[in-house]
Amino acid sequence: MNEVGTESQPLRVAVIGAGPAGFYTAERLFKQKDLVVEVDMFDRLPTPYGLVRAGVAPDHQKIKSVTKVFDRVAGNAGFRFFGYVEIGRDLDLTDLERHYHQIVYATGAQTDRSLNIPGIDLAGSHAATSFVAWYNGHPDYRDLEFDLSVNSAAVIGIGNVAVDVARILCRTPEELEQTDIADHALEALRSSKIRDVYMLGRRGPAQGKFTSPELKELGEMSDADVIILPEEAKLDELSENSLATADRGTLRQVQIIKEFAGRMASTKPRRLHLRFLVSPTELCGDETGRVRVMRIVRNELYATSAGTLRPRATDYQESIEVGLVFRAVGYRGVPIPGVPFYDDWGVILNVDGRVVEQDTQRPRIGHYTAGWIKRGPSGVIGTNKPDAAETVEQMLKDLSEGRLLKPQLPTAEAAGKLVQKRQSEFFSFDDWRNLDRLEIERGQAIGRPRVKFTRIADMLAAKES
Ligand code: NAP
Repeated sequence: MNEVGTESQPLRVAVIGAGPAGFYTAERLFKQKDLVVEVDMFDRLPTPYGLVRAGVAPDHQKIKSVTKVFDRVAGNAGFRFFGYVEIGRDLDLTDLERHYHQIVYATGAQTDRSLNIPGIDLAGSHAATSFVAWYNGHPDYRDLEFDLSVNSAAVIGIGNVAVDVARILCRTPEELEQTDIADHALEALRSSKIRDVYMLGRRGPAQGKFTSPELKELGEMSDADVIILPEEAKLDELSENSLATADRGTLRQVQIIKEFAGRMASTKPRRLHLRFLVSPTELCGDETGRVRVMRIVRNELYATSAGTLRPRATDYQESIEVGLVFRAVGYRGVPIPGVPFYDDWGVILNVDGRVVEQDTQRPRIGHYTAGWIKRGPSGVIGTNKPDAAETVEQMLKDLSEGRLLKPQLPTAEAAGKLVQKRQSEFFSFDDWRNLDRLEIERGQAIGRPRVKFTRIADMLAAKES
């Protein structure tokens, strides 16, 4: 029998999901000396790059340049992209097991964490993740509508997603025109009436989940002043004590917040109010069922037995008038039918990237996971690189010890034929390159970095043209 991973029998790997985790997994595999590997990468969208295309804020073009790394990975002879092919719709796990020695799930976190307070389902209350996907032109979200004719909006949470949403709401049309924001979002934001944006942290300045550069950027917007109440910028005793062992990032954030709080009164047309130690308790609607008021309660911090500072409500309550609410309290992974899932954390059940069975906790041979669906929605794009390396280490260990799937049809040709049969409209990486070129050309014509295709039908039509 031929040895798997050699010229005569390449290791055949299916990677599900073409985001950073999928690409870093492929990169790591291709970097192995003496291993002949073929990677077929599947994505349900015709376009690759996952959250780099549909999540990273459009005014952060520099971050998006990481796609150059992914393009180099796609240039490997053993790499193929099958876009617009959905596992569960076009192919199932049995199909994959018949064609590959190893399968890696890198599907990210496709939905949002819930927030159960009265009124959360009122019109005008949205998941921040939907707004992000909308302004980035994700085909599944491009037809959503956000009422930007209101005066004020609240963003619940103080992580980087909340920061992105607040910043996009505060940008001028001229600033947004410099970005690759989806056309429909640019048009809607052009006539936005929003003047006050409230970002609400349930804990204090020393517990913000944002990173320092993102926080600092909030204080540098041309059209919006950032406003922090001095009493909320002041640290409570527990937080003050925690600084003795805090990392540099936290110290810097506390410093930036103090600086913001000390700024002179607002002069710009928009105001971004960064609030700390407050939690929403209820959204109240008007007679048409649209959100009108958010009730909030002030919190105080207490230390858990593990030493973490957690919020608890005090008696002090307030109301803020808001016509739009975005909950930015985190993403959440979605199960893949037939793959063990740990619901509490919203991740695929795994140990160091090896998928394990629900009942026995033993590895499911040939099945692996990487990225947010493996570890939860944390870290920045680069965090996925060591994460993928850990998964690949397990894959290589299993290969060397012969723990692989035993596919009946382990050839690129057989897999290609199957995809062609089930989804003849699939996008190859060359099809994507063509779409990419067209988007850039459309942008160049009007002085923008790119104008995205946001409907799958338009992408398919462009492919045929
Ligand atoms: P996140 O960093 O986990 O932040 C979630 C925020 O929601 C926290 O402030 C959290 O407060 C708050 N929260 C959670 N439950 C809440 C509740 N019930 N009530 C009120 N507040 C609540 O999540 P994220 O912002 O979605 O970001 C996901 C990941 O993507 C992060 O690793 C982030 O850094 C990354 N990201 C990076 C960039 C960038 O690099 N520019 C941009 C976007 C996203 P607690 O801390 O109190 O739990």
